[in-house]
Amino acid sequence: MTREPIIHQDDDDVVDDNVADNNVADNNRADNEGDRDLRPQRMQDMVGQQDVYDRLQIAVEAAGKRDEPLGHILFDGPPGLGKTTFAMCIPRELNVHVQLTSGAALKAPKDLVPYLTNADERSVLFVDEIHRLPIAVEEYLYTAMEDFRVDIVHGEGTHARTLNLWLKPFTLIGATTRSGTLSAPLRDRFQIREHLDFYSIDELSEIVRRNAVKLQVELHPTAAEEIASRSRGTPRVANNHLRWVRDFVTTKADGNITSELALAALEMAGVDDLGLDQQDRTYLDTIIRVFGGGPAGVEAIAHTMNVPPDTLSDEVEPYLLRSELVVRTT
Ligand code: ADP
Repeated sequence: MTREPIIHQDDDDVVDDNVADNNVADNNRADNEGDRDLRPQRMQDMVGQQDVYDRLQIAVEAAGKRDEPLGHILFDGPPGLGKTTFAMCIPRELNVHVQLTSGAALKAPKDLVPYLTNADERSVLFVDEIHRLPIAVEEYLYTAMEDFRVDIVHGEGTHARTLNLWLKPFTLIGATTRSGTLSAPLRDRFQIREHLDFYSIDELSEIVRRNAVKLQVELHPTAAEEIASRSRGTPRVANNHLRWVRDFVTTKADGNITSELALAALEMAGVDDLGLDQQDRTYLDTIIRVFGGGPAGVEAIAHTMNVPPDTLSDEVEPYLLRSELVVRTT
């Protein structure tokens, strides 16, 4: 029998899957409405990332056979590549509960304690944007991850006493867009580390085709490729394009997506044939025009563009680097 994972919020409320996604969004992740209904529910429904899938499948099966919690897992990679999707599928494969939170929401160790004490045996605690954990919270996680123990200090000054609280063995799944900024002690405590890479056009076409079925819209196969080739190697972008194209054909045509209509819709949205959007083009234009072709530091480019440097290094640069439209210098 398979059981849907139950998601706990920070009190003891048991909530359903939709609330789970709200919970993540509340915690400031860059999620959007569209992710919810298009997100694959099981690992076997995920497209691509075959190596990651194969390794996780083995780890999940082995943990099941040994009746032990799965080792802690760290996913890293640019936004929209499936870190959360993997993290949400794993508890379903293990048939265990999952709790969701984000590094930005855990401001002090006391914010983390309820998640740890609520964790059932072998359940999953998913911490998105784990690189945003303050150092005090991160250090608090060390013993929780390694020995399934936390130390709680009671009272103050000379009356202070430390209470060792034993936790049920659980699995921490962390996701980060910047594993480089994680401290080595935290990184080393994850037994499984997986890097998610950009998707091929074929893989994205397959995702677009499957999601057109979910959205109940007719899609010509060539239109799937057009959308996929303009999606910057990223499923979330492909899903957003598909939704926009669906809106476009609903208003401007008979509701069926042909490649001509897909192209017209994406052109209207400012997406070019390389899949670059206005922000990507402004970034390239800034380097060419203001910095004479570079090299230029990300902070300087961000200031000129009036956007946070993190947006550029997380969302813009990875794809431009991968497409060799920019190169990184020392
Ligand atoms: P991340 O956590 O890395 O930012 P998500 O896991 O939230 O990315 O993925 C964004 C959306 O992209 C998901 O809602 C899902 O619909 C889609 N997606 C991601 N990876 C895959 C995949 N391998 N197969 C199919 N859809 C995917």
